[in-house]
Amino acid sequence: MACVIVLMGPQGAGKGTQGQMLAKRLQAPIVATGDMLREVARSDGELGRQVKLIQESGNLVSDEVLAEIIGERLSRSDCENGCILDGFPRTLPQAKQLDGIAAGRNLDVFVINIEVPRDQLRKRLTGRRTCPSCGTIYNVHFKPSKSDNVCDLDGQPLQTRADDNEQAIARRLAAYDEMTQPVLEYYRKQGKLRHIDGTAPAEEVYRGLENVIAGFSS
Ligand code: AMP
Repeated sequence: MACVIVLMGPQGAGKGTQGQMLAKRLQAPIVATGDMLREVARSDGELGRQVKLIQESGNLVSDEVLAEIIGERLSRSDCENGCILDGFPRTLPQAKQLDGIAAGRNLDVFVINIEVPRDQLRKRLTGRRTCPSCGTIYNVHFKPSKSDNVCDLDGQPLQTRADDNEQAIARRLAAYDEMTQPVLEYYRKQGKLRHIDGTAPAEEVYRGLENVIAGFSS
């Protein structure tokens, strides 16, 4: 693919779901910094403890920590020809770090913003359930698992994320407005930003995503 596809949009816009579908289709790695940081949060030690607290509160983890983990992840051989990014960059310094990495490898950066109005986002986030084993994302309102609270694919009990509660959701959306909106503006000025409507069912949104990607490369 030889490019980096950045999926942007507020929490609950569907970046994870769309990223999983796109990764399958393009046979490309998906790099989701939220998942990577949840892994760090489960580890022993000071960093794990701090990351856990920050994630649960709904604030952003520092750019220094992100620089370290994303630098290491993108340097692995599976990302040599690009990847799909979900949840990174979320601040201007992170966007500039990504530009540096991409330029060093001759990879284009394409940015797709998935748009969903705020009132819908809250319902999506409070209803979200995730399989801790395979990462499949469900929603009790829109995409329930076949049998109650158990993953369709591997039978694991589904989990609710610690930061999918009202207070953390409000803080995450505020962090998005303050820190991540300027990133959209940064890419818009470079002509790298496209928007898709994220309110339709996932398969329909995905068709929009594929159309936009086809437009990027033509
Ligand atoms: P997500 O799963 O993408 O919603 O991310 C969950 C949480 O992980 C966020 O609310 C932040 O605390 C942290 N996080 C994920 N990605 C980043 C990032 N690029 N910069 C800072 N914090 C992040």
